[in-house]
Amino acid sequence: MTAARGTDGVLVDRYGRVARDLRVSLTDKCNLRCTYCMPAEGLPWLAGPQLLSDDEIVRLVRVAVGRLGVTEVRFTGGEPLIRPGVVGIVAAVAALEPRPRISLTTNGLGLDRLAPALRAAGLDRVNVSLDTLDAGRFARLTRRDRLADVLAGLAGAAAAGLTPVKINSVLMRGVNDDEAPALLRFALAHGYELRFIEQMPLDAQHGWDRAAMVTADEILATLRTGGDARTRGDAGTGATRRTGFDLTPDPAERGAAPAETWLVDGGPARVGVIGSVTRPFCGDCDRTRLTADGQVRACLFATEESDLRGALRAGADDDELARRWRAAMWGKRAGHGIDDPTFLQPARPMSAIGG
Ligand code: SAM
Repeated sequence: MTAARGTDGVLVDRYGRVARDLRVSLTDKCNLRCTYCMPAEGLPWLAGPQLLSDDEIVRLVRVAVGRLGVTEVRFTGGEPLIRPGVVGIVAAVAALEPRPRISLTTNGLGLDRLAPALRAAGLDRVNVSLDTLDAGRFARLTRRDRLADVLAGLAGAAAAGLTPVKINSVLMRGVNDDEAPALLRFALAHGYELRFIEQMPLDAQHGWDRAAMVTADEILATLRTGGDARTRGDAGTGATRRTGFDLTPDPAERGAAPAETWLVDGGPARVGVIGSVTRPFCGDCDRTRLTADGQVRACLFATEESDLRGALRAGADDDELARRWRAAMWGKRAGHGIDDPTFLQPARPMSAIGG
């Protein structure tokens, strides 16, 4: 399918997809060191002057919302909560007309303290990343002993009304792939919405291995059977009781959502799987990305970026910024191409792009 090139209005690409969902990275830094994301020593962080200021971020979001038809803004990173101005940025974006829906993806550290202020500033909801419920495993996986802080962050978000609180989990073979049922039980017990994300080739170490990735099919099978402890003798009766979940396709319209969702045990609780690698959804992608240093990316896996910071600091007006943003999105590729033999992992890792 081809589309007419957008010279005004929305962010359309040559395949006719319209980007309405903006992911904004507030910083490339993080206070965890997840082994599948970055090395123990961290990364060469962006220098202060390279980062967009709070006002520059709000200006670019205003262009996206006011001129380019963006209706959803998700703040991410790095770890967005370590940006000192995060509450003020949320408040300024919530004051835009038309007001976008605003969410934030976080590792949850400090969220218990910040949640009320973020809610008051206009944040609608959060996604919290949590890959394991075992404290020792959490410390090994993230290289920080902070599981209790993440659990407090989740509870704080729910108490502040940042709902639905969603949990993102990445499963890795031999690391935490036995925890899918336990993570779902935990989410159900607390009223959180769990989604599993297939591991993608976006790590700083370039160590991604397709064979080590736990696929969407495997995740669903494990949930249905209950994993290794799928059956247990029912004391006294000798009967065998399944501990797996009954998963049925969610009748709700998926739209451009990356997660495919299933009703758990008849609903209304749901579980999602983001099968970016084995079940790509590029044909419905409605995302555009802004990095912490002001580069527009049409895709997580794009190898090209378009510099809005330079234009902005050189005095470009909003029309010019919008024109550059449209031009960047017009060049969006049809798919991420992970299965293509010519696939090249982007130079910047997930933490620097904004996951
Ligand atoms: N620090 C925040 C957090 O932890 O949610 C936001 C940034 S983090 C990069 C966003 C999400 O990307 C997290 O849920 C993380 O688990 C996930 N992630 C990181 N590297 C990934 C990879 N290679 N494949 C899939 N998901 C990844």
